[in-house]
Amino acid sequence: MSRIAYVNGQYVPYAQAGVHVEDRGFQFADGVYEVVAVKDGGFVDLEGHLVRLERSLDELRIERPMSRAALTVVLRETVRRNRVRNGSVYLQITRGAAKREFPFPTGVAPTFVAIARHLDWAKGAANAAKGVAAITQPDIRWGRCDIKTVGLLPAALAKQTAKEAGAYEAWLVDDKGFVTEGSSSNAWIVTKDNVLVTRMPSHEILSGITRAAVLELAKREGLKVEFRPFTVAEAQAAKEAFVSSATSFVIPVVTLDDKPIGNGGPGVVVAKLRSLYEAHAAAHSTDWQAPFLAP
Ligand code: PMP
Repeated sequence: MSRIAYVNGQYVPYAQAGVHVEDRGFQFADGVYEVVAVKDGGFVDLEGHLVRLERSLDELRIERPMSRAALTVVLRETVRRNRVRNGSVYLQITRGAAKREFPFPTGVAPTFVAIARHLDWAKGAANAAKGVAAITQPDIRWGRCDIKTVGLLPAALAKQTAKEAGAYEAWLVDDKGFVTEGSSSNAWIVTKDNVLVTRMPSHEILSGITRAAVLELAKREGLKVEFRPFTVAEAQAAKEAFVSSATSFVIPVVTLDDKPIGNGGPGVVVAKLRSLYEAHAAAHSTDWQAPFLAP
């Protein structure tokens, strides 16, 4: 079956799908994106992703190409045409194509593309069962990490370093020694007293939609949460640690810079959170509050 991409109002064969050479996403990373998981034919946390998408667009003053309902139709159709029952849908919106000049162009329509791909959730489950390694890298990103822009070079560099070290993720560390988040996930630890610790939403991190759902599930489970930064040393001395993201769900981190966390294997709190999140994902529920994104 040939793949199909959505590009500015049309569904086109993947091999021919492209945007203009002067697209501002390509020239300036002047665009935003979202990734939504597809589980057994349904979107996971779609509402939250669309809320965050609109916020990202508004923060950058990029016009919304269409309503939330119309956008949902495009995503559904992209998934349907690619026959993806388990996978993800990626959407990207840029300020559009215009003569290369730094200020915003006027009268230019945004570029909107979407692609869908299959994903084997069993691989994620296997990672969750074993736990994964993370390394640390300096956080060299810009001052508005709360906006989900396509300016992902620092994240790509950090992820490549992680890959070369045989690790699943790179945890980014600010200049005070505190972990901000993963290169493509939010970072959490569990203290010896079973308290979840994760940073407060701010301009320093992307407020994850999976993070918001996990927080809600943890609250319902009666788990205590502290919103504060933690250091690399605190993470290495924690009982458990994990990452959350739309395509990873919840994955235990069992070593950080080669130091074992807890007993060096997945712990019970993270296992519980993963199973709660899996049930939440399977229910395709929209029954939760729009996430608190940033001040
Ligand atoms: N932080 C960063 C930097 C990310 O790229 C991602 C994933 N896109 C996340 C956190 C997790 O966000 P979400 O749960 O919405 O996928």
